[in-house]
Amino acid sequence: MSSPAALTADERARIEAKSALFDPPEPTTPDGRRDLVGLSRAQLAAELVAIGEKPFRAKQLWHWIYHQGETDFSAMSSIARPLQGRLAERFVVGRPEAAMVQTSQDQTRKFLFRFRDGQEAETVYIPDRVEDRGAVCISSQVGCTLSCRFCHTGTQQLVRNLGPAEIVGQFMAARDSYGEWPSPHGETPRLLSTIVLMGMGEPLYNYANVAQAMRIVMDHEGIGLSRRRITLSTSGVVPMMDQVGAELGVNLAVSLHAVRDELRDEIVPLNRKYPIAEVLAACRRYPGASNARRITFEYIMLQDVNDSEAEARELVRLISGMPAKVNLIPFNPWPGSRFTPSTPARIERFARIVMDAGFAAPVRQPRGQDILAACGQLRTEGQRVRAGAALAPPPPAG
Ligand code: SF4
Repeated sequence: MSSPAALTADERARIEAKSALFDPPEPTTPDGRRDLVGLSRAQLAAELVAIGEKPFRAKQLWHWIYHQGETDFSAMSSIARPLQGRLAERFVVGRPEAAMVQTSQDQTRKFLFRFRDGQEAETVYIPDRVEDRGAVCISSQVGCTLSCRFCHTGTQQLVRNLGPAEIVGQFMAARDSYGEWPSPHGETPRLLSTIVLMGMGEPLYNYANVAQAMRIVMDHEGIGLSRRRITLSTSGVVPMMDQVGAELGVNLAVSLHAVRDELRDEIVPLNRKYPIAEVLAACRRYPGASNARRITFEYIMLQDVNDSEAEARELVRLISGMPAKVNLIPFNPWPGSRFTPSTPARIERFARIVMDAGFAAPVRQPRGQDILAACGQLRTEGQRVRAGAALAPPPPAG
């Protein structure tokens, strides 16, 4: 009989094999040039060796690409002119195309990025209300398999995974939009100061690409964003959660949204595979979690669905003893959604119970609602129609 660890490894392998069915296309331009963005350092060095260059050139290029944010080889002044020309013949330093940029009344900015194959995903910059900093909410997939009932993205079938170039590219293109280059280092304040992997898609169903992208973002000689400033949000893909903690060490957020399996089975259907007790057990063993680095539980407040005082008390019981905080998210309606947001009074009562038990329970203020940029509202409308015509329905990833 297999051990639990072997079962987890088997399950992980199964998830990774399924994820590979949705691999992104090769990051090359129509004229055959390779995008250097998204390559690991080793892959970048290999590309250079393949054109007869010394591997140490990779360090120089890395600096220009990720520290300076430069996309034009001819402006990379520490690289000799002949090499600049050869690089430009074979490679590009790409960005996703910003097909649409909308800025909300509250200064939240939503980007609709179009990738080389025409697929699209959304990215949102949410500035802090007080300080000059903010979070970039990044997508990991085009569409999503998980169909969480309160989520607009969940009504769009999974089209494909995003590749490392497309994941890092969202952040870099958002930085372009605010002119935040070269990359601020050390404690220098950053306007785009945190990354939250909470956009379209389930990042743990695209782990390999997400991990490569985050390693690039964290590299000290480039963008240099600390792992403490990156939060990966999952609906609870249990077999992958330990791996994230061990390999990336980023902050973990879990979309909990319900405290009873019957309800969570319905509103977060992944729960049928990985029920609440298993998700919470994975949280309890998440490496690096501490009072300084708490696990965030996201809890969307749906009127008369999950917002009773009894449910608040059950939530406290479930997470007791864990270094945790609870983000209460008033439901953000979208066209066709069947839920209504909890009233402020109900949210307040719920929050009070959680706080009285010693947990932080901030109520997330909806941001960018006027441009459908708030939590759970992302969806690429135009793409769904084209994708639906081109692709057979995918098998569930879960
Ligand atoms: S909440 Fe996240 S995992 Fe669930 S359907 Fe929406 S994008 Fe997918």
